[in-house]
Amino acid sequence: MVRVRDLSKAFGGNPVLEGVDLTVLEGTVTALIGPSGAGKSTLLRCMNLLERPDAGEIEIGSHRIDARSRFSKRQLYALRRETGMVFQHFNLFPHMSVMRNVVLPQQRILGRSKAEAEHRAQELLARMGLADKGGQYPNKCSGGQQQRIAIARALALEPRVMLFDEPTSALDPEVGAEVLEVMKELAAEGMTMIVVTHEMGFARNVCEDLVVMADGGIIEQGDPQRIMGDPSHPRTRSFLHAVL
Ligand code: ADP
Ligand code: MG
Repeated sequence: MVRVRDLSKAFGGNPVLEGVDLTVLEGTVTALIGPSGAGKSTLLRCMNLLERPDAGEIEIGSHRIDARSRFSKRQLYALRRETGMVFQHFNLFPHMSVMRNVVLPQQRILGRSKAEAEHRAQELLARMGLADKGGQYPNKCSGGQQQRIAIARALALEPRVMLFDEPTSALDPEVGAEVLEVMKELAAEGMTMIVVTHEMGFARNVCEDLVVMADGGIIEQGDPQRIMGDPSHPRTRSFLHAVL
């Protein structure tokens, strides 16, 4: 479903990603872990071209872009549309009701009618346990509710892959657990997901694949239980020691 080939990205001459290769199979959940500054967010942002890679190929579903060759805005949006992104700090539109937060992107991006978009939004909000929140403003909702609204907003665009960048890092543990529960349900329904997280329980119990990044590259990848039980890279060992 997702293939990243030889991806490189530098900021102001400082290499952040160097020759990253990653393949994610349809219907699987991949946890992306590693120390702060490893390049996890940059990798996620390159995948949906929120960040333009310097070199390499990104393939999502049937869309492929080679960073070194020319591509049109249309190609970029077509690829980005295959992904839904959930951020650490929710990034909801503060001046719009919860309902409008979920409805507007569907109208703008998918060209859905207001009625159709509202119907889908209501369905998704209900699934997130937020059926009665549509008329509220985001700042009247708890952090956990805001993150579930953000997930509903992303799902409303019918992505083929969901990208989560530390979705529970800004939340208290109990509230984070509600968000992880929703993500676990999505995983069980077969959604392809890539999740940057420090929640090692989630990585162990929900994810099929664990990818460990350090210094702009993938240093280890494989079965989460195997890597957590017996990491082969010393940097994985010290990172796991710090978070477990
Ligand atoms: P992680 O998510 O693993 O903590 P990031 O991908 O956010 O790591 O960052 C990797 C490195 O790239 C860091 O050194 C960070 O300072 C740098 N970086 C990230 N985004 C930018 C940017 N927009 N401009 C300059 N440097 C950046
Ligand atoms: Mg990050």
